Amino acid sequence: MKLWQKVLVGFVIGTVLGLLFPQLAVLKPVGDLFIRLIKMLIAPMVFASLVVGASSIGDVRKLGRVGGKTLLYFMATTAVAILIGIVIALIIQPGAGFILTEVGEYEATSAPNVIDVFLDMVPTNILNSLAADNMLQIIVSALFIGIGATVIGQKGKPFLSFCNSLAEIMYTITGMVMELAPYAAAALMAWVTAISGVEVLLPLAKALIAVYIANILHAVIIYSGAVYFFAQMNPLHFFRGMFEALAVAFTTCSSAATLPVSMRNAQKNLGVPNEISSFVQPLGATINMDGTAIYMGVSAYFIAQVYGIPLGPQQYLMIILTATLASIGAAGVPGAGVIMLGMVLHAAGLPLDGILLIAGVDRIFDMIRTSMNILGDAAGAVVVAATEDGLET
Ligand code: ASP
Repeated sequence: MKLWQKVLVGFVIGTVLGLLFPQLAVLKPVGDLFIRLIKMLIAPMVFASLVVGASSIGDVRKLGRVGGKTLLYFMATTAVAILIGIVIALIIQPGAGFILTEVGEYEATSAPNVIDVFLDMVPTNILNSLAADNMLQIIVSALFIGIGATVIGQKGKPFLSFCNSLAEIMYTITGMVMELAPYAAAALMAWVTAISGVEVLLPLAKALIAVYIANILHAVIIYSGAVYFFAQMNPLHFFRGMFEALAVAFTTCSSAATLPVSMRNAQKNLGVPNEISSFVQPLGATINMDGTAIYMGVSAYFIAQVYGIPLGPQQYLMIILTATLASIGAAGVPGAGVIMLGMVLHAAGLPLDGILLIAGVDRIFDMIRTSMNILGDAAGAVVVAATEDGLET
């Protein structure tokens, strides 16, 4: 059996057993072990492969062009994602028939200051950034070091070959750790189904269905279209190539933790060159979250509906704008989206307590949005690679 087939089997077994025997939630540590092992690889892998990547892109103008294209792709797909989310919410009417029972009170976290966000991208201490897994800071320092190493020519070679070797080691360990994925998938699925049971899910079924449909449509239309149009890649090949990463994202609910697997998939299965993958995917895992954006659009509409608040054009605009920003600001960790949702509701003048309605099943929303988040980054890497030097075959 191929690894992805084993993961699928683990997944199904975990789901079924979790439904039948909720006590199997105790298996969660198997999943946590897997997540820890993968996380162990993130900082060295992103740093090392981006240093090598930046040095092989070589000239700064090309680097700027790749960066520009990447950001354009991220923004465009995220905006479309929210639109799709809102349209599907309008069609499905997720809040219709929802009986509002007592909800508590929810305090929103305030939106961060834009200037601070930009300043914070520049590390004051590279080792601290690595130690804290601060992705944007790691990206910025790796770009500088990669460029510096190229500028000094021969003298930079030993360091570049060290980074090259470190990156290879990390990719290889990712492959080893993935052998554990089927068991982790089973354990995490058993845990999710055990904790969320049917009674909790049923009242929110329509909202869940709307979020799942919008996400899947976004992947089928936008990502398929993008890889086909820009890279003449068969969308099925794209989805199949990313399957392991999808399974890991779905079960771990963390784009950051999925990063080593999704970079490996994009490079080995889709032929995305290392220098593009190691730039686009870590950046995307941090700032490009189409699934999260979709979820915010649908949830804002759902909450407005449940509270009987009609939305005007200005509020829709606010939702689109703030959901884009909130998805950029959300960290690639489980449950980040539901916290950032507070920002969107606040801006659109919707009751923050609405969050408490959906927070209980957030994990189920998180599974699909994280999967789409990493898929969007991979599609972006394919698109950028295809419009630069092409994909490796
Ligand atoms: N869990 C998501 C991710 O890692 C973020 C979110 O909560 O929306 O991509």
